[in-house]
Amino acid sequence: MSFSHLGLAPEINQAVVEQGYDKPTPIQEQAIPAILEGRDVMAAAQTGTGKTAGFTLPLLQKLIAGTKPRANNVRALILTPTRELADQVWQSVSLYSKHLPISSEVVYGGVKINPQMMKLRKGIDVLVATPGRLLDLYQQNAVKFDDLEVLVLDEADRMLDMGFIHDIKRIIKVLPSRRQNLMFSATFSEEIRALAKGLIHDPVEISVAPANSTAKSVTQWVYPVDKSKRTSLLKHLVQTHDWQQVLVFTRTKHGANRLVKDLEKDKINAAAIHGNKSQSARMKALAGFKNGEVRVLVATDIVARGLDIQELPHVVNFDLPNVYEDYVHRIGRTGRAGATGEAISFVTQETASDLFGIERLIQQLVPRKVEPGFEPQLAVPESKLDTRPIKPKKPKKPKKPKVTDAEQAPSAQPKNKPKQSSGSRNNKPSSNGKPAGNNNGNRRRRPSSSANKPKSQHAGEKRTPRQKPTSGN
Ligand code: AMP
Repeated sequence: MSFSHLGLAPEINQAVVEQGYDKPTPIQEQAIPAILEGRDVMAAAQTGTGKTAGFTLPLLQKLIAGTKPRANNVRALILTPTRELADQVWQSVSLYSKHLPISSEVVYGGVKINPQMMKLRKGIDVLVATPGRLLDLYQQNAVKFDDLEVLVLDEADRMLDMGFIHDIKRIIKVLPSRRQNLMFSATFSEEIRALAKGLIHDPVEISVAPANSTAKSVTQWVYPVDKSKRTSLLKHLVQTHDWQQVLVFTRTKHGANRLVKDLEKDKINAAAIHGNKSQSARMKALAGFKNGEVRVLVATDIVARGLDIQELPHVVNFDLPNVYEDYVHRIGRTGRAGATGEAISFVTQETASDLFGIERLIQQLVPRKVEPGFEPQLAVPESKLDTRPIKPKKPKKPKKPKVTDAEQAPSAQPKNKPKQSSGSRNNKPSSNGKPAGNNNGNRRRRPSSSANKPKSQHAGEKRTPRQKPTSGN
């Protein structure tokens, strides 16, 4: 199928051609006709599938037809969990609407609210927003929803993980009941379904890849290695394979900084991107990485979502994530939209149980390779695929989150041009001044562990507490 068969306006098709897209991705093939028909949509799609265009293109098509918004009104609202994703979605909306008389803006917290209030005055066709700031603007009468036609919840699972359920419910309450609802989520947990029940009517359900599956275009493997040898293994791989653009994930911000220093000692250009870096430092690191000045970008999971780098060839899990779904999101940074990529993970004796948990989640064993000279002295136990289904999480009564701009704290609001930056989860002190907990961010709760099995075989079952959202991302 080609884009021209989807019934989109020539101006939209032209923008798509200018982006170099030849044909719609599977999510676009399914979502675009359903949205154009006016149906509510619930789509399970990871980043990298082309989901943003999947909802934006038909949204723009629908907006061409209606009338302009009145002052302070918006016609389409796209809610995202993080400011980085908000920026990125706005960037896409701007690109796809560049030949149309459709206005769009992005709002998020951590920056001055007044300029945002000014922008909203004239009314906006498409507003991309994070929930906290949107509520602030609503409470100050800066935004009105009387003209709202379409609501999009992007990365709904992450919004729930970040504790935005109350904010989302408060927002939904003030929207007109006659509207089209589109919900996109990497996974469909029971919590997501519970949210959808009160929100979405008779939806078309779309699933382009089963939840927690990894993209086929990504070749994955694991290097068993001793913990102390990981840095030299990384340097060795970068140098011997002449990797020019590698995204490396560490578990902690401190670990990311240390690794950057170590790489630079060997003249490998590297930069870190995480929640302790200012927004401008993050932008600079990301821009350097995209233009080739920075060869290795070391990130914590703050960027696991929303970071879109064209044709990123290599992702390395220096530390395995202990929130296993993050593995899927991390490696989803490569092999995007038809391109191929490599996702490499280092596993040590201590982190073997995390590997088993990941393998259970993705229901496949990740092939292992031992790099000569880096054979582990501390043996990493063999994997054995645990095929028992992981029980869905029980819907949990969420705690009342603090009204913070948890997803926000950049130092500068983008001006005319949307900028692209990392996704984030944060470890900064919460607004009440207390530390927000350890570096594991918003961990997910695991199904309970079974009593009589060795821990390593059932790592997917370990229970970790969910944390409250905090300010600072
Ligand atoms: P998303 O899943 O929305 O984050 O999109 C991932 C990447 O796929 C972005 O870089 C898009 O520019 C790209 N993309 C979206 N649609 C297509 C398409 N039909 N063909 C090729 N690339 C696409």
